[in-house]
Amino acid sequence: MRKETKCLHAGYEPGNGEPRQLPIYQSTTWKYATSDEMGMLFDLEKSGYFYTRLQNPTNDAVAAKITALEGGVAGMLTSSGQAANFFALFNICEAGSHIVASSSIYGGTYNLLGVTMKKMGIDCTFVDQNLSEEELAKAFKPNTRAVFGETITNPTVSVLDIEKFARLAHSHGVPLIVDNTFATPINCRPFEWGADIVTHSTTKYMDGHAVGVGGAIVDSGNFDWMKYADKYPGLTTPDESYHGIVYAEKFGKLGYITKATAQLMRDLGSIQSPQNAFYLMNGLESLHVRMQRHCENALKIAKYLESNDKVAWVDYPDLENDKYHALAEKYLPNGSCGVLAFGIKGGRDKAIEFMDSLKLATIATHVADARTCLLHPASHTHRQLTEEQLLEAGVAPDLIRLSVGLENADDLIEDLQQAFDKI
Ligand SMILES: *Cc1c(COP(=O)(O)O)cnc(C)c1O
Repeated sequence: MRKETKCLHAGYEPGNGEPRQLPIYQSTTWKYATSDEMGMLFDLEKSGYFYTRLQNPTNDAVAAKITALEGGVAGMLTSSGQAANFFALFNICEAGSHIVASSSIYGGTYNLLGVTMKKMGIDCTFVDQNLSEEELAKAFKPNTRAVFGETITNPTVSVLDIEKFARLAHSHGVPLIVDNTFATPINCRPFEWGADIVTHSTTKYMDGHAVGVGGAIVDSGNFDWMKYADKYPGLTTPDESYHGIVYAEKFGKLGYITKATAQLMRDLGSIQSPQNAFYLMNGLESLHVRMQRHCENALKIAKYLESNDKVAWVDYPDLENDKYHALAEKYLPNGSCGVLAFGIKGGRDKAIEFMDSLKLATIATHVADARTCLLHPASHTHRQLTEEQLLEAGVAPDLIRLSVGLENADDLIEDLQQAFDKI
């Protein structure tokens, strides 16, 4: 199946007489006839459902669709994108570990790595993702356990050189984890460029309609944990909390996701509700059509903004003169996403005046929605960051993040124009 067909058919294939639409298994628990059968499930000796915190058939079908779209071997849903990134990293890190991450990542992930995981004893070095390989190599330490970046960064829409980061990670014997939220597997499949694990905030384009917060983790199965066994004891030595199972041995390529499910989901419990997974399934079915239109609309609007004399600058990788255009042509040949960033002449105050004058585009702490929305990161998502951290993350004080929806682009341009006329 090609990706468009996978959007519709992967993950759930009903048999004869079964429901066409994925059923919502709104049940916490499953019934078994014998105590032995249940025991085998607990021992991971048999696969099957027993409690929704660990697995649920609705969630599994949706995870399977995302896994198929990314070209991975195993995947899981989480309650949010934040949980996905935390689980993806915490599954292979512990107190004393170190992470190398791009400094341009989403504000929430920046806090997760720089503040909360630090309190757990996991250190992070943030790097400028545009540095040369030699410069970036200096960030690695003997205790580095993972490299992290976003295919297209939120909110600065910078494109990650995935091959460069994969080479760096692998030459240091660690996996590359890529948050592929903005590109979606429709526009980029990071595994094809060497990434080992992909994460998503499914809240964004995958859901696409601002219905449910959710996340996903997909494993390529390509990273050889046993080769670096001393670095990843959680996968390569017996798990005493699970009858001495060695995940990478017993489950092979499925070991990473099995551990994240059996251990992290068991203990930390950030499962997506089956109801939300059902909404996500519906979103995924039209992802390929929506992504194409998001990109077409965003390019039209980026060109309009570029030609507007009240606009100081526009960042959108699909623009020919954008600093990330060459990387976008390589990694995102069919378009990047519907999000762009721009600055208004006159800075912060004018930005706020402009935003308050919009009628169609709405101010929302959301992005990648069917409806156009926008936000001023310095006043909203990134307001916890200091000026210095803002600059480090590449977030200019005048930056407006515009998430172009599926409306008629001319209606959007008219709305932007009337707001520009007011400032
Ligand atoms: C929104 C977002 C997240 C966090 O996802 P939630 O679903 O809001 O928890 C992580 N990474 C990126 C790139 C995002 O855009």
